[in-house]
Amino acid sequence: MAFNIAIDGPAGAGKSTIAKRVAKELSYIYVDTGAMYRAMTLYFLRAGISLDDEAAITAACDNITVVLSNENGEQQVFLNGENVNGFIRTEEVSKMTSSFSVYAPVRQKLTQLQREMARTTDLIMDGRDIGTCVLPEAQVKIYLTASVETRGRRRFLELQEKGEACSLEEICKDIKQRDYQDMTREISPLKQAKDAVLVDSSKMTIEEVVDRIINIVKEKLV
Ligand code: C5P
Repeated sequence: MAFNIAIDGPAGAGKSTIAKRVAKELSYIYVDTGAMYRAMTLYFLRAGISLDDEAAITAACDNITVVLSNENGEQQVFLNGENVNGFIRTEEVSKMTSSFSVYAPVRQKLTQLQREMARTTDLIMDGRDIGTCVLPEAQVKIYLTASVETRGRRRFLELQEKGEACSLEEICKDIKQRDYQDMTREISPLKQAKDAVLVDSSKMTIEEVVDRIINIVKEKLV
């Protein structure tokens, strides 16, 4: 059986930065499941499908293929054969993804794909429902979180570095809204799995979090 590490947590907790580093150190594949939900959302947005049109969303799921590949350690997401990495990180897609990902057909499709990947490959997978729903048998489960203020500040600095105009207040508001949507949805809401280790990164450096997780993994491997 493959060795699986599940990392769940709210938006902006640093999951992908941390998971990428841990994957590199362990020579594991990193799977960013948020990117898969984002790619499906891009399809719905491009197709002009409205958020409350469950029938259209359900029908569209049959026309969507999401494929991941790894190029130089960076995950690439292909939506019906097109590399969409450059389109899925906008604020609009972030917000809309949280809304489209409540639907059962969307979740079923991606959950199945994620389980197939994890069955045969040692990997570290991050998302919202990995430890609770997608990989309940994962050997290591981490719930990575940080305060809204910390997560907002990190995002603010990231956008400032890119030269994008933004307000810290707006960013914190969006984060709270996304947390609320992800934590209160009916199917596979974001929550800490009973057997997950809680890591609060508010006052930790990236290195400290990576070391903590590597140590947890090593304890399981011996
Ligand atoms: O991780 P990221 O912020 O890219 O995820 C975008 C959105 O995708 C989340 O806010 C959440 O609504 C959804 N998502 C999910 N289940 C996952 C991963 C992401 O519902 N496993």
